[in-house]
Amino acid sequence: MIIHNARLRGRDGLHRITLDGERIAAIDAQHALPPIAEGDLNAAGNLVVPPFVEPHIHLDATLTAGEPAWNMSGTLFEGIERWAERKALVTHEDTKTRAKKTIDMLVDHGIQHVRTHVDVTDPTLAALKAMLEVREETRHLIDLQIVAFPQEGIESYANGRALMEQAVELGADVVGGIPHFENTRDQGVSSIKFLMDLAERSGCLVDVHCDETDDPQSRFLEVLAEEARVRGMGARVTASHTVAMGSYDNAYCSKLFRLLKMSGISFISCPTESIHLQGRFDTYPKRRGLTRVAEIDRAGMNVCFGQDSIVDPWYPLGNGNILRILEAGLHICHMLGYEDLKRSLDLITDNSARALNLGEGYGLEVGRPANLLILSAPDDYEMVRSQGHALVSVRHGKVLMRRTPAQIERA
Ligand SMILES: [Zn+2]
Repeated sequence: MIIHNARLRGRDGLHRITLDGERIAAIDAQHALPPIAEGDLNAAGNLVVPPFVEPHIHLDATLTAGEPAWNMSGTLFEGIERWAERKALVTHEDTKTRAKKTIDMLVDHGIQHVRTHVDVTDPTLAALKAMLEVREETRHLIDLQIVAFPQEGIESYANGRALMEQAVELGADVVGGIPHFENTRDQGVSSIKFLMDLAERSGCLVDVHCDETDDPQSRFLEVLAEEARVRGMGARVTASHTVAMGSYDNAYCSKLFRLLKMSGISFISCPTESIHLQGRFDTYPKRRGLTRVAEIDRAGMNVCFGQDSIVDPWYPLGNGNILRILEAGLHICHMLGYEDLKRSLDLITDNSARALNLGEGYGLEVGRPANLLILSAPDDYEMVRSQGHALVSVRHGKVLMRRTPAQIERA
């Protein structure tokens, strides 16, 4: 298959991308447009990019909002309570059906790489077992990383440590954590040491729900970063949320940034989720409840955006469209400056791929997988401004999804 008339980020002019089976065989400058052969594609001067990435979602919880009750306070903590009620009703088939329905929504929006957190604070590990099957059964659609996520704590939940170890033995790819939710600060610290040991031993990646609270005293990020630094594991470690950083004072944050930079860890922010769940204990002024996305980026560290939830006890909306998260995130994080807009797609492509450690399994380079998107606009700025879409998604050298833009008729 050949994709003609492609505009590529960071390169001038138009290009022709030749796919050979499941690999990219060539990328050449294109000066004239030949007739398009059957089976080839015309990007028509629009951007061609590697697939969008969903770096942070909870596929075992999606499409459950209101079952049995809605989260009325809008807080993270009521979300965890409502989820504990729904969790009692979870079955193997229920988890698989909802996850697959959600994966279809992600695929419809050009996503081909997904990291999902799966709740392992359940003595039967039912959701994990279901998601391990989903990972195999959806390989033609997405590459799925599964995080062993202790929603109700590692130290504060009965047999929490053993459940994490079992989850890794069963095949989880990533070790998770939730130190700010542990009953005490000491337990939060020991949970991080435990999960880093487990990751080091097993070779798993690490992605911790870290300091997802407006409490400026929640300072587990420094513990995670120092563990990553000392063990030389920074490239394999991600801190998700870190929203307490939005409440840290600047003196502490400036000291913290030195450590964060040395550690080499990545950051994932879920801007729509955080603006919804955080700031709930404030009257006015009311905090935005996000991590310092722009500052992390300016400091040369790796940060990206995720959706977190789609119609679950924490967040009632969502449709799988990561471009909606990008647009909202740029607003919420004060990143509508032209320099930020010009490279905004980094936040849902290359930066996310780095956080997920996709390495040579990602990117528009000769020899890499023949996975790519044709977008509806010629550059990052225009994609965000026009609220564009992925028009075609190609995976393993074949068209996976095609979108026909809406037609408008003027009177
Ligand atoms: Zn999450």
